[in-house]
Amino acid sequence: MKIIITGILGQDGANMAEYLLKNTNAKIFGMMRRSANPNFINCKNFTKHYNFEFVYGDLTDSVSIDNLVRQIQPDYFINFGAQSFVGCSWDIPLQTFDVNATGVVRCLEAIRRFKPDCKFYSAGSSEELGDVIYTPQDLNHPLRPRSPYGASKASARHVVKVYRDSYKLYAVHGLLFNHEGTKRGEEFVTRKITKGVARIYHAIKNNQIFEPIELGNLDSKRDWSDSEDFVDGVWKMLNQKSPKDYVLSSDETHSIREFVEKAFNHAHIEGYWHGEGIEEKYYINDTYIENKQIESSCLVKINPKFYRPAEVDLLLGDSNLARKELNWKPKISFDKLVEKMVCFDIDNF
Ligand code: NAP
Repeated sequence: MKIIITGILGQDGANMAEYLLKNTNAKIFGMMRRSANPNFINCKNFTKHYNFEFVYGDLTDSVSIDNLVRQIQPDYFINFGAQSFVGCSWDIPLQTFDVNATGVVRCLEAIRRFKPDCKFYSAGSSEELGDVIYTPQDLNHPLRPRSPYGASKASARHVVKVYRDSYKLYAVHGLLFNHEGTKRGEEFVTRKITKGVARIYHAIKNNQIFEPIELGNLDSKRDWSDSEDFVDGVWKMLNQKSPKDYVLSSDETHSIREFVEKAFNHAHIEGYWHGEGIEEKYYINDTYIENKQIESSCLVKINPKFYRPAEVDLLLGDSNLARKELNWKPKISFDKLVEKMVCFDIDNF
């Protein structure tokens, strides 16, 4: 069995490779794009595995995708490669579309032409739902994206269905709500918080002054899970009798504010909120520092630069179908996820 995974240096690609190397005997071809300074940190557990090989390719380059599919003749093609950062998608909308939407067409075309029985996974996102009209959100929820990223993923959803219906390909586009972990990129809000907590934890321990963590909208609500749970769901989606999309989610929603409080709690730092709007700040409890609200005890402050031009206020998934038909459910709770990320970042600071 041969499997191509794109986005291998990212969070999900690396977790998928670890999962497949542990649970199957498949040969994994991890696709990375050319970089002057690639970061292999997420792949450190398997780069030397006898069943793993890095290959070069780029989702914007159809020659590379065609060649990989033609030469490798994969049984599965798992496409995690993407311009995956919503905030940046307003800055680079064309590149976001080229990678996330046209890139999916390039993969589907390569499969159609060179290996039509190869099963294809496309990484869909709850950001496709955007301005939600009901809660919790399932597969019937209309696509109402609020960012170029969400729109690019919604386009990919349509094109996967078109290729599935037109050419009878086994192609699925999972609707995955937010998922995190110790391999999460540092610009994403969860990792930014846990890395910031680790930095402040060590500063307090060493009696040093520290800068607060700067965040955008504290009241956005997200449905967060662990990426390691989701790669199991993705593999199950790829191994059904017939191709079908599913929602993967924790079916719980929490605000960024809650994430902040929990993350500091796991570092044994108690805090409290003070102020309103963009002046709102999170300070260390007076059990730590006597002089309340002094700036040197500020843990979190708002920086409007992190507000999105159009916000997605509330995401909450309904993954009942996946739980019933795929016999899948997440194992790691929200609390355990935050604890795992904070402890990892403190230990590896
Ligand atoms: P990630 O950590 O940002 O990884 C994305 C990977 O894609 C990176 O390794 C990146 O390569 C690669 N990439 C970017 N442009 C590429 C191109 N032109 N050609 C080939 N590879 C390219 O993202 P993730 O969290 O693992 O997410 C995996 C997928 O799931 C993405 O499609 C994402 O949009 C989607 N998704 C994620 C979530 C979530 O909460 N994590 C939720 C829903 C959907 P470099 O390392 O070279 O930058």
